[in-house]
Amino acid sequence: MRSDPTTPCAWANTLVTMWGPRFPVDVRQIALEYSKRFSDPVLDIIEAPVPSFEGALAPLKKRGGWAILYNPGIRSAGRINYTLGHEWGHYLCHRQQAPAGFECGESDVLGGSRQQEREADKFASYLLMPLTDFRAQVGKQCMTLDLLKHCADRYGVSLTAAALKWLESTGLCAAVVVATNGFVLWGRRSAAAARARIFFPSGMELPQGSLAAGSGGSSPPPEGQDLPPGVWWKRPVREVAIFADHYEMTISLLIFEDYGVLPDGWEDDEVEDTVDRFALRK
Ligand SMILES: [Zn+2]
Repeated sequence: MRSDPTTPCAWANTLVTMWGPRFPVDVRQIALEYSKRFSDPVLDIIEAPVPSFEGALAPLKKRGGWAILYNPGIRSAGRINYTLGHEWGHYLCHRQQAPAGFECGESDVLGGSRQQEREADKFASYLLMPLTDFRAQVGKQCMTLDLLKHCADRYGVSLTAAALKWLESTGLCAAVVVATNGFVLWGRRSAAAARARIFFPSGMELPQGSLAAGSGGSSPPPEGQDLPPGVWWKRPVREVAIFADHYEMTISLLIFEDYGVLPDGWEDDEVEDTVDRFALRK
């Protein structure tokens, strides 16, 4: 018998190959079916009304298996799906090191600051949005809200998860900045933006003139808007802004096109961690 994969990406690739090119990937079905090969399978995937976490992996001691729990307060099907993927990742990669299981908050599910959270996030991202398929969807197109929505719908994930996948896949200099109440909560940057040292610290006030700072007005243009140097950064930027319908959050995709694109093959030596997290608040 072949040995099991040892990294989150290898696990995701194995399952994606078995599942085939059908989207969205049904995490529920895969977790319940595939884990039957282990002596401690996933026996239940259920809602658990515990406000402090988004999802959890919990041992079922009497029955000798595990339950994947998710918070019924999550209103978006995409966030639930991604959360299930994340917990299924903890099951495959981490359960032997964590007999008490995991409880994951919203920031953990999208990567968090701890190694195991990042690994579970990476697994969910590669399981639900295989990189080759994602790149085929985007191609050479400019990222717009409509294109991002297409990706989120195809993979059954939130706009935020799709935006972070795009960051990982692009050779452009780009960042995703999540803000609430006028201040930056957290963000991530593409490999090219990390090289250019573009950085928006947690707690930074949203810049005057940015689309995100104008959230009280009309809806932002879906194709984004070109902003001059000095608004977000010392270089010109195109901002695509999304006003999330919960928690008064804004998500800004910032694309610094005048930095150019990394040459083909740029990811070969950095595929394990292409997306750099800055300013993640815990
Ligand atoms: Zn987690």
